[in-house]
Amino acid sequence: MEIKIAAISPEGLTLHLEREAAEFPELRAMVRRGELAFTAPVKARVRIAPGEGFFDVHGDLESVVEVHCSRCLVSLRVPLASSFEVTFALALPGDGTPPHEEPLELQADDMGLDWIHGDTLDLRATLQEQVLLALPMQVLCRPDCRGLCSRCGQPLDAGGCACPPEAPDPRWAALHRLKLKS
Ligand SMILES: [Zn+2]
Ligand SMILES: [Zn+2]
Repeated sequence: MEIKIAAISPEGLTLHLEREAAEFPELRAMVRRGELAFTAPVKARVRIAPGEGFFDVHGDLESVVEVHCSRCLVSLRVPLASSFEVTFALALPGDGTPPHEEPLELQADDMGLDWIHGDTLDLRATLQEQVLLALPMQVLCRPDCRGLCSRCGQPLDAGGCACPPEAPDPRWAALHRLKLKS
């Protein structure tokens, strides 16, 4: 995912990348914590276009994750897709401080801006960020998923559980008797 600047011709460069999620530290950590699993590699089509002191990167990325329904915990496959635009600016050689030129500062406000360190443009952090942004916040197996039984922990959909129906609240029973008397 590290592209040598020297390999980018003035006409630009188009790359088709396919990487395992385990190659991205943050994604690997999430998988290890059991938060999700990747059932497909991270595939990206990236177009790098050089400008004066910067490179514009346009990309489309896709993958498939397996996550759990937030209510009933059943496994679900969720396709991920994301389109992104990032600008990589050349840092000034020497002291490592980025250049503060008007056009780049303006661009930094409305689009992602990354710095190029050394002679390579590293797409790893960019691709990882895009996968993280594409992940759904909350997933439900269906909009009206009833979740798990609070007593036995079985899913309430798909036939329900074997728990007897909730015993009526004694206060309601008292009210009911009152009603019958009147
Ligand atoms: Zn569910
Ligand atoms: Zn139950």
